[in-house]
Parts: sequence; C-alpha cells; structure tokens
Amino acid sequence: MNQTSAAPFQPDADRVPCHECSAGIMHLRHITYFTWLGQELVTVPNFPAWICDLCGRREYDERAVSWLAMLLNPETGRPTRRVKRTPKPAPPSLNHPTPPLD
Ligand SMILES: [Zn+2]
Repeated sequence: MNQTSAAPFQPDADRVPCHECSAGIMHLRHITYFTWLGQELVTVPNFPAWICDLCGRREYDERAVSWLAMLLNPETGRPTRRVKRTPKPAPPSLNHPTPPLD
C-alpha cells in the first residue's frame, strides 16, 4: 500500500505556497513598505511581507497592514478611503530573473 499522507515536513509558518503561480513558496521577508498618507510618502522599514521565490509575488502581512492602516488613518470608519495603489510592474519574463527589490 502506498501511503503518502502526513509527509514528514515540519510545520514551518515561514513557508506558504504561492497563490499566484502555486509552484513557488512564499517566504516571510522584511522589506521597506511605501505608502502615501495624503501628500506624504510614508516609508515603513522592516515591514513583514511574503515574497514568492518563483514569481516574485509580494503579499504584505495582513495583520501588519491593518495595523499600519490603523496608525495612518485615525479616522477609521470613514466611507471614503484614500488609498493610493501603485501600479503593478510588468510580469517578469522567463528569461529575465526578477531584480533584487532593494
Ligand atoms: Zn509565485
């Protein structure tokens, strides 16, 4: 009988499969987070983000983002939110590795 359940991988909270390419692994990294607060550019160093080692997809840690939103928006609950989205860069082609983010 082939029993393939319960692979002996240790449960590692730092390894999450990528939602984008579903082949890469999201690693928890600490990067500098940029966001706009009105006219002001706010940078948050050492911001936790999950970065795919294959496609380079970045997902910021949900709790950290909501924490930051709370800090930046004292008037939370207002219907109008001024969230400036940065345009997504073009997806990296297969022949060009993603350049380092820093
Ligand atoms: Zn990926």
